[in-house]
Amino acid sequence: MNWMKKTLRIGEKIKTFLKKRPTKAEIENSDWVSCCKGPILRTELEDNFWVCNSCGKHHRINCKQRFDIVFGKNNYEILQTPIPPDDPLGWKDTKSYKDRLKDARKKTGQECAVMIVRTKINNIEITAGAFDFAFIGASVGAAEGEAIIYGIQHAIDNQNPFILFTSGGGMRMFESLIALSQMTRTTLAINELKKNNLPYLVCLTDPTAGGITASFAMLGDIAFAEPGALVAFAGKRVIQATVKEELPVDFQKSEYVEKCGFIDLIVQRKDLRKKIGAILSILLKKNFAVNSEINETSEDNKTLTKAAS
Ligand SMILES: [Zn+2]
Repeated sequence: MNWMKKTLRIGEKIKTFLKKRPTKAEIENSDWVSCCKGPILRTELEDNFWVCNSCGKHHRINCKQRFDIVFGKNNYEILQTPIPPDDPLGWKDTKSYKDRLKDARKKTGQECAVMIVRTKINNIEITAGAFDFAFIGASVGAAEGEAIIYGIQHAIDNQNPFILFTSGGGMRMFESLIALSQMTRTTLAINELKKNNLPYLVCLTDPTAGGITASFAMLGDIAFAEPGALVAFAGKRVIQATVKEELPVDFQKSEYVEKCGFIDLIVQRKDLRKKIGAILSILLKKNFAVNSEINETSEDNKTLTKAAS
């Protein structure tokens, strides 16, 4: 009766295959998040700064979650950045760009992928920005470019240091050349920041790639990154096919990029506030924070001084 067992087994397989899988929205709204050892309770992950206790994976977070962790819960003022007209090229592929924007806004509660805030760290006034990857992959279009430039102008007007937490796949191709021009515009704005002798710190988070890496993400006076973050320009497979060589396993991970000299420090999410405060204190010569924050270990002290010099 082997044939019967076999038929039953095939039937079971078909049943499993046809079983309804959870939708993207259901996964996002679930109380569980999957990681190395299976599902983790969302609240448990949140209590640990959205970092897995077992493997140390730094899960992606939105702008408000980022600011809450680094600057303290609601300890910041969100600035209204200018929003240029939507969809300047009337783009449509499988879905219209206007609909994509509508969905992204509904999903994230933001007008564009970048959020700019004014806040304080160690009593130092700062202007900061962050990207939400859930907003069309945190790609940069005219609105995101405007938001970054607005943040930089705010920093210059108030003589604040500017901190940017980057992520995103690059320039938004639904806006073609308008998106690409944001690379130049943001670079010119950063030059103005530097002419004003104001520190510009960048924290690279997972994933920072394409035109973002090729412009404002790599122009920081100090560039630090979260552990395990993907930091790249072109994709690994594209490079591998071009150079026809096997690339290291950790290629384009923040630790590898640090070894190559493009990143100054790898900082755990829980330590971001402390490190940013210490670096700003060194750069702005505010010793009260330096004494309390960086004299923990001589190794820490050495790295920070090296990075700040
Ligand atoms: Zn894990």
